[in-house]
Amino acid sequence: MDLLNTLVDKGLRREPPTRDEALAVLATSDDDLLEVVAAAGKVRRHWFGRRVKLNYLVNLKSGLCPEDCSYCSQRLGSRADILKYTWLKPEEASEAAAAGLAGGAKRVCLVASGRGPTDRDVDRVSETIRAIKEGNEGVEVCACLGLLSDGQAERLREAGADAYNHNLNTSEATYGDITTTHTYADRVDTVRKAHAAGLSACSGLIAGMGESDEDLVDVVFSLRELDPDSVPVNFLIPFEGTPLAKEWNLTPQRCLRILAMVRFVCPDAEVRIAGGREVHLRTMQPLALHLANSIFLGDYLTSEGQAGRADLEMIADAGFEVEGTDEVTLPEHRAGGGCHPDGDGRGSTDGDGRGSTDGDGRGSADGGVCGSAAAPAARSAGPRTDLVAVRRRGAGTDLAPNA
Ligand code: SF4
Repeated sequence: MDLLNTLVDKGLRREPPTRDEALAVLATSDDDLLEVVAAAGKVRRHWFGRRVKLNYLVNLKSGLCPEDCSYCSQRLGSRADILKYTWLKPEEASEAAAAGLAGGAKRVCLVASGRGPTDRDVDRVSETIRAIKEGNEGVEVCACLGLLSDGQAERLREAGADAYNHNLNTSEATYGDITTTHTYADRVDTVRKAHAAGLSACSGLIAGMGESDEDLVDVVFSLRELDPDSVPVNFLIPFEGTPLAKEWNLTPQRCLRILAMVRFVCPDAEVRIAGGREVHLRTMQPLALHLANSIFLGDYLTSEGQAGRADLEMIADAGFEVEGTDEVTLPEHRAGGGCHPDGDGRGSTDGDGRGSTDGDGRGSADGGVCGSAAAPAARSAGPRTDLVAVRRRGAGTDLAPNA
């Protein structure tokens, strides 16, 4: 397929696809799926080999958020039956992190619900970062605390944080449909603050909120401009009790096409499969490892993931290897912070996100899609609420975490 040959060549040169090329990836048929995965896999292996970085989430503060992000089970007015608790003590967070690190994770992601931290919150998280770093040589710590005020990113950096996550989530055009209590510009600002403070920027998206292909391409191109080192790709978990509970519109094939598109647009960034991996990719998860070079180990913030041991077995069975703490994740040219040769925007972020639309939205296909009698793309299997388990173990509970 000419399209895929072109995209592989560009990916190996760190050159972005055109917008139409990115849209065409999303519009490929299921008949072409393995070719798409193989092509994006070449780009993934060129920059990251067969390594898979494992990240471990610790939810420092769960639920009770005053913001109204539609996709979030912790939002204002959420009726989702999630764990709700206030700040973990540094030793409790450190203990939770230790379980993930023992399971093979090299990065700990410290996340707290809320619009953004107070200065007292930053003190608290700083203490937690120091506690985790003291006991675990080589561990990377990423903070995800919402919108940052001036000076807070610098204080987190001084405390030893390596990265800050704040996601763009969806396109600027649809951001107001998913959240009204803060803006897309607020999110961009926080990513830039983190980046300016010398933190590695982590910023990604959420797919499956009803957005169009154009929205997905928009947000991924915006991320490329901000140039985060890592790009988490979430697949919406439509929690009962949230406004997006009915948005079951992803198929495993659609998820793979989205990951391939992200890989082509951000060829040398750490592309991470985030929330919704088990729920939406299901038995196709191993194929996604050919596209992403990073996953979360164990549970998510408010939902349970597959057993940590199953993650490790999947990685080994698919012919990949867990990245060690002595290995550098990013290609050498990004070691001092990301930068694209074509000089597009800098910056950095983290994120959650959102959008809205019909479903499995296909989108434009400007050509390059091969096969004159290609099979129609698979339809969503419908709601798989049976696969959504609210987290009842680990941080904030008396039960051992999944790692
Ligand atoms: S995504 Fe973050 S800011 Fe938005 S409702 Fe959830 S916890 Fe609050």
